[in-house]
Amino acid sequence: MKKPRVLIVEDESSIAELIAVNLRHNGFDPIWSEDGVSAQREIDTLIPDLILLDWMLPGQSGLQLARQWRKDPRTKAIPILMLTARGDEPDKVAGLDAGADDYITKPFSTQEMLARIRAVLRRRAPEAATERVEIGELALDTATHRVTWQGGPLKVGPTEFKLLGYLMQHAERVHSRAQLLDKVWGDHVYIEERTVDVHVKRLRESLGAAAPMIETVRGAGYRLTAQATV
Ligand code: CA
Repeated sequence: MKKPRVLIVEDESSIAELIAVNLRHNGFDPIWSEDGVSAQREIDTLIPDLILLDWMLPGQSGLQLARQWRKDPRTKAIPILMLTARGDEPDKVAGLDAGADDYITKPFSTQEMLARIRAVLRRRAPEAATERVEIGELALDTATHRVTWQGGPLKVGPTEFKLLGYLMQHAERVHSRAQLLDKVWGDHVYIEERTVDVHVKRLRESLGAAAPMIETVRGAGYRLTAQATV
């Protein structure tokens, strides 16, 4: 399994180093940014699995950054754990209001930090994939890796299988290309959005008569629907 990438946004290098060492020893892949600008640069390169965000930072505060990341569709799903100073109750509330998932009060123990990180990651983990999804007469089974249409098997490539699985598990909703890249391809943000179109095209070819179930929503993205006339 890939090590969860944790972005530490903390201007105090001694604290950041201590956190990074502890994370590394416990199976995480920490990266450190000392302010919002460099944190944004890290996020633009690779979406982290979690952000440890200090409240008091030079430049933009942790609160402003949390708000900003929650607004951006590319970053809004990243779990954020705020680091606050002892006794700052209003801060904690404001932090949670701004979209932080949880907070840790400094000074904290490594055990507490790890426990909170794991809890947030568990809560935010993608919904446990249902083994079998059926939409109309289209069925997908993740256990057997099979797709059937009206009971007959369809040949679907590995990426198209993941894409179809995601669309079926979130049917009737429109997904932008950027969202599909994040959800189906993971954090490889260097992949062009056009890649999605290529795989949707292949998926439609594999689906044959069921292809109209994948709708292109102009200017928005793609949707899998049971309402299509097939
Ligand atoms: Ca600080």
